[in-house]
Amino acid sequence: LQPDEWLDDTHATVRDPRRLRHLVDVHRATPGDSLTVGALDGLMGRGELLALSDGEARFRVTLDREPPAPLPVHLLLALPRPRMLARTLEHVSALGVKRVTLMHTRRVEKSYWQSPELKPEKIRQHLLLGLEQARDTRLPEITLETRFRPFVEDRLPALLEGRRGLLAHPGLAQACPRAITEPTLLAIGPEGGFVDYEVERFLELGFEGIHLGERILRVETAVTALLARLF
Ligand code: SAM
Repeated sequence: LQPDEWLDDTHATVRDPRRLRHLVDVHRATPGDSLTVGALDGLMGRGELLALSDGEARFRVTLDREPPAPLPVHLLLALPRPRMLARTLEHVSALGVKRVTLMHTRRVEKSYWQSPELKPEKIRQHLLLGLEQARDTRLPEITLETRFRPFVEDRLPALLEGRRGLLAHPGLAQACPRAITEPTLLAIGPEGGFVDYEVERFLELGFEGIHLGERILRVETAVTALLARLF
């Protein structure tokens, strides 16, 4: 659980209605219960629930351990349709990814970039749900790249330096590697997939093209399957 506000070094509150509901409906928390609590981007520990009212939960907190290690991956994800974005971000943050670039590609609908789901507070909510699920505190960094060419031509080569680049695209020759440990850029396409030009450009830049077998997975499933297999 991530507190919304710290009253002092050892006391914190949760006020966000969605997370309060989670506390009551899922954890069935009552005063006296102890829960895993984390300081955003900081240590984790235990929180004793002192009081629970309609609008607020108040905790006494002891922070004494590091959050789990992050995955050494920077995800380059073609912006999914708004309905799918929330759950995809939740999975990504639960699996320990700390850098995500949401990028435009030919088959991303332009209208998706206007979605309220892309407002920073919405993105943050989805990421926090994933962090809480996984008992992690480090919030992923999200970058939006609304134009493909300037991103790929001007910024991607520098991002690739010192990293392995992997491009997930059905039908490419190399099977998805397993249990890699080196810093990696992983590119995943939109619902309609990458177009030929995009695949060629990633490969020219030095990305390895990988496939996940004959089954074509929806974006949300492909993200989860790739991250679980690769790292
Ligand atoms: N018809 C599209 C195509 O053939 O590219 C399907 C796109 S799939 C719904 C969305 C994204 O998930 C793909 O662009 C790719 O990055 C990833 N993906 C899904 N299934 C995959 C597979 N079997 N192998 C590699 N990548 C896959």
